[in-house]
Amino acid sequence: MKKIAILFLFLAALQLGAQDLTHYKKVVKELSSAKYQGRGYARDGANKAGKYLEKEFRKAGVDQVTCQPFTIDINTFCGKMKMSADGKKLKAGVDFSMREYSPGVHGQFPVYHIDTLNFDPDVLFADLEKPEYRNCMVTCEYMFSYRNRDVFSRLQSKDGAPNAGFLYTWTSPIKFYKAYGHYVTDKPIVWVTPEAVEGVKSVSLDVDNQFLEDYALFNVIAKVEGERHDSCYVFTAHYDHLGNLGRRLYYAGANDNASGTAAIVTLAAHYAKHRPMYDMYFIAFSGEDANLRGSEFFAQNPIVPLEQIKYLFNIDMIGDNNPVQYCEVSDQGMKGFELFEKINGEKGLFKALDRGELAANSDHYPFAERGVPCIFLENQEGDAFQYYHTVFDNWKHAVFDSYEPVFKLVTEFVDRY
Ligand SMILES: [Zn+2]
Repeated sequence: MKKIAILFLFLAALQLGAQDLTHYKKVVKELSSAKYQGRGYARDGANKAGKYLEKEFRKAGVDQVTCQPFTIDINTFCGKMKMSADGKKLKAGVDFSMREYSPGVHGQFPVYHIDTLNFDPDVLFADLEKPEYRNCMVTCEYMFSYRNRDVFSRLQSKDGAPNAGFLYTWTSPIKFYKAYGHYVTDKPIVWVTPEAVEGVKSVSLDVDNQFLEDYALFNVIAKVEGERHDSCYVFTAHYDHLGNLGRRLYYAGANDNASGTAAIVTLAAHYAKHRPMYDMYFIAFSGEDANLRGSEFFAQNPIVPLEQIKYLFNIDMIGDNNPVQYCEVSDQGMKGFELFEKINGEKGLFKALDRGELAANSDHYPFAERGVPCIFLENQEGDAFQYYHTVFDNWKHAVFDSYEPVFKLVTEFVDRY
């Protein structure tokens, strides 16, 4: 009897004290499911996911859950999404996708392949006046257009040149971005793989876009009260993602960022069971993939003074298996970074912490800019990283290796900082 009681207590202690991989996987799977359509800004995907998270935080036993609404303008692609090249059907999300700020495009177009090796803008503009290239799609490698962006901005303007639009090639698997979707350009821009358009003479496109003004989104904020209220720790992760590309296709975003969102849900559950010394906030941001809109809104309208944040942990894309953990740290967070390195060494969690240059690439940035001590944790260049912002970042390709070491790293940090 006594033995059983001890065993029971031991098991209970294990359960209470540790990360919860089963719970974690359940949340990743749910957020990546078709129900949320890639947690985008149309079809209510992101907002449905937000409502699910509200419930999930409550179930985790936190003291308070609030929603912080904000709005964005955003270009979306939820209608027709068809393309063929010389009569051959191309696959959306695999052979082609849209530039986030592209308008819709309908019709058949000749293709003008830019001679990038012997590039002469005068020849290009003269060629575009020829009848066979009237209303054509100009195609070249994306980086070439970037290097010659003064020429290409002339091509983009309606009065600058008579081309109908652009096909920019980018290596497979084709990616889709959303960060600059708050406006729409004059002419359409299509991402294509080089193989999809190699040597083709014409393409047809049937693509709808819809520009949404003042589209309503919300951050989900859960709070676990500590013994002290004068300072707090903040865990953040964005739960929105790229949403739809056409009617059927969606970007599930298992790594980006169901993986980080699930981590802060299980951290909330952990601290709800183990009362912390300081107040703890768990913020699931929306609008991140539309250029950090939710975190920027929060940083401008914080529900707790930013000076009271002892440390902020932004977890974005930890669904990977690189034994070296990438991170970025704000200037004010550098003292804490020494402790992170110490803990990591002592506990043998990751092979190393690889600290990169601070950049506006995730939700820690609006806080770093405002002097908040913070760290950004993202597991890069493992097996899942190749699928970043592609339709293949889904439950089937989900990787869980980094969850436990990240969990241990941040909880141990809170104990010692
Ligand atoms: Zn992203």
